[in-house]
Amino acid sequence: PAFVELTDVTHAYGGDGVSAVEGLSLAVGEGEFAAVVGPSGCGKSTLMKLATGLQFPRRGTVRVAGDAVRKPVKLAGMAFQNPTLLPWRTTLDNLLLPLEVVEPHRSRLKRERDRYVARAEALLAQVGLAGQGQKFPWQLSGGMQQRASLCRALIHEPQLLLLDEPFGALDAFTREELWCVVRDLAAARGMTVLLVTHDLREAVFLADRVFCMSARPGRIIAERVVDLPRPRD
Ligand code: ADP
Ligand code: ADP
Repeated sequence: PAFVELTDVTHAYGGDGVSAVEGLSLAVGEGEFAAVVGPSGCGKSTLMKLATGLQFPRRGTVRVAGDAVRKPVKLAGMAFQNPTLLPWRTTLDNLLLPLEVVEPHRSRLKRERDRYVARAEALLAQVGLAGQGQKFPWQLSGGMQQRASLCRALIHEPQLLLLDEPFGALDAFTREELWCVVRDLAAARGMTVLLVTHDLREAVFLADRVFCMSARPGRIIAERVVDLPRPRD
């Protein structure tokens, strides 16, 4: 069954009257790793915002886990091109942020804090940031912040992971290492992933299914199942 499903979605921001996406349909199965590629400005970020309830479409329907999306989707983890860490919190406390949002019972959060901290530290280690948790974001390089943002998207073990060009600020070597980390984590947890990128190589390396978007107004113009033998590390 589809876990994320957009059906004939049209969305415009106003301004020049040209829709950002128009007649956009796509379905991502549960546990599937999907990538969306397309030229700059074609509506990839808009698609992400629609899939997580940060924007609502003018026309068409958006469903996640079978339900029509009417408010921001809490079961989703998100990481963006720009790391969005809060500067007044340590890296570790930034990682714990989604738990404060999804965990309605403060007392439980307090009780479980040690366990969550351990999980955060394990994630930091997986992306090469072992021992960096007590630093503030501004004490980290851009690439390190981006890796920390990725950890934050994963901390609450989301069923759905949305990645909007999260590998952009990384050097080529770190990027390919992180591809493997993300791919393995997604496979191990059976996460449904929607990755937006303009890097076709990245899409093919990571995804089971690749969608291509047209130039603005964006819609899906091709869909391919990636069925290549993948080198394992
Ligand atoms: P992509 O992620 O593929 O680069 P976006 O989804 O960010 O594309 O943008 C699609 C189109 O919608 C672009 O032409 C952009 O200028 C426009 N757009 C995006 N966000 C806004 C906004 N908040 N207000 C007005 N126009 C926007
Ligand atoms: P990145 O690709 O991670 O952005 P940079 O070229 O900015 O790399 O930095 C190279 C390395 O130098 C980083 O991986 C990090 O170990 C270290 N570094 C850079 N900036 C800082 C900083 N402000 N504080 C601590 N370490 C830093």
